[in-house]
Amino acid sequence: CWARIRGRLREEVGEVEYRTWLRQMTLAGIDGEDAVILLPTRFLRDWVNSHYGDRLRALWQAEESAVRRVEIRVAQAAAEPAMAGAEPRVPARTEPVGLAESLAVRPAERPAPEIRSDWVVPLEARFTFDTFVVGKPNEFAHACARRVAEKPASQGFNPLFLYGGVGLGKTHLMHAIAWAIREHEPVRTVAYMSAEKFMYRFIAALRSQNTMEFKETLRAVDVLMIDDLQFLIGKDNTQEEFFHTFNALVDQGKQIVVSADKSPSDLSGIEDRLRTRLGCGMVADLHATTYELRFSILQAKAAAARVEVPAKVLELLASRITANVRELEGALNRLVAHAGLFGRPVTIDSAQEVLHDVLRAHERRVSIEEIQRKVAEHYNLRLTDMVSARRARNVARPRQVAMYLAKQLTQRSLPEIGRRFGNRDHTTVMHAVSRVSELMQQDAGFAEDVTLLRKMLES
Ligand code: ADP
Ligand code: MG
Repeated sequence: CWARIRGRLREEVGEVEYRTWLRQMTLAGIDGEDAVILLPTRFLRDWVNSHYGDRLRALWQAEESAVRRVEIRVAQAAAEPAMAGAEPRVPARTEPVGLAESLAVRPAERPAPEIRSDWVVPLEARFTFDTFVVGKPNEFAHACARRVAEKPASQGFNPLFLYGGVGLGKTHLMHAIAWAIREHEPVRTVAYMSAEKFMYRFIAALRSQNTMEFKETLRAVDVLMIDDLQFLIGKDNTQEEFFHTFNALVDQGKQIVVSADKSPSDLSGIEDRLRTRLGCGMVADLHATTYELRFSILQAKAAAARVEVPAKVLELLASRITANVRELEGALNRLVAHAGLFGRPVTIDSAQEVLHDVLRAHERRVSIEEIQRKVAEHYNLRLTDMVSARRARNVARPRQVAMYLAKQLTQRSLPEIGRRFGNRDHTTVMHAVSRVSELMQQDAGFAEDVTLLRKMLES
């Protein structure tokens, strides 16, 4: 039955992968409900555990329903020297590393559909080209990613270096490349991992004196993707190893894709020769999103969730949450979840209520000075008139308008506003606020003026 399980796995993952990772597995025996599998090194043990553990368990269950757990151990656990930071020794019935949780949560059900295990980190199912919304700020990076996915390792696109701020879609594009290659050319092995993971694996290999294996493993892949390279900064050993792997792969005509928060030339703390090599392929920047892109992303996500979200609500989110697409998504998800939970449609009022904390955190911060400047400009006054003692109506009224807007658009207290308007008293500000409100009721032209000013300041 063990032979059948191995055979099945071999068919599923393919010959190359099987030989790289799984060939050395041996069955130590079945201990009650546990099948105990041995591998010669910790590195292999960890790898197989995290990438094939669920699958092995499912195959065991299918073959031999009495087996409920699969425990993967290093072959000569007892002979291995204890090392600082190494995991506790593994006597007969301790928890298998990493596997315990997933087994505890899902004792009987079959594991989630398998992502082919040549990914070093499972790919996010949502992160495909289909779900990536293209706009001006990301069209170049997107085109480069498409190109690499279609023709890995083509001249001029290797390495592909994607960079940009947090939450602008770097990881999404990398996963999309991996998915696309997997779909069109499943024979190619793609390894995607964060730079942190790379470092962790490398250090683990150093500890267990398995660096050869680490190197060979990585050098056997066709496409290597390292996400958030900035994490390697200052880690000299790991940087060095990455550099060697990188060179070896490029020399063999393999594709490298790297992401970071800055361009190669702005990444300080990495070696010059690495910087040079990183920059010698294609460098593509994911720019900050525009309002239009944010709106389209929201529209696409709402459609994907099959929830009707009024344009007004999308506008509100797109204009307020500007820095990070992840946050934008999070806000939309909250609305959708809330609507689903209470069976009510999403409206501008419900959005304001459900997201009041998010919206407040993203309030556009208008400064008093900005208000004074805009109001002065609008009424053809000088900035100093806003703070002067002049009481002429043509100066005093605009000044009141500015105070009113300061109250409406900033978090400043009345005394603070008074101080900023030429050291006036807070009652003066209070009076200005109520006077302007009153006038807005009485005089439509005036109300329009104030509203226009407000819009200009808020946009
Ligand atoms: P980064 O890696 O640059 O920090 P991610 O790729 O993790 O950012 O993106 C953050 C979130 O925003 C993800 O959920 C991603 O799907 C989404 N996202 C970013 N850009 C886009 C886009 N252009 N279209 C659709 N979703 C996007
Ligand atoms: Mg990322």
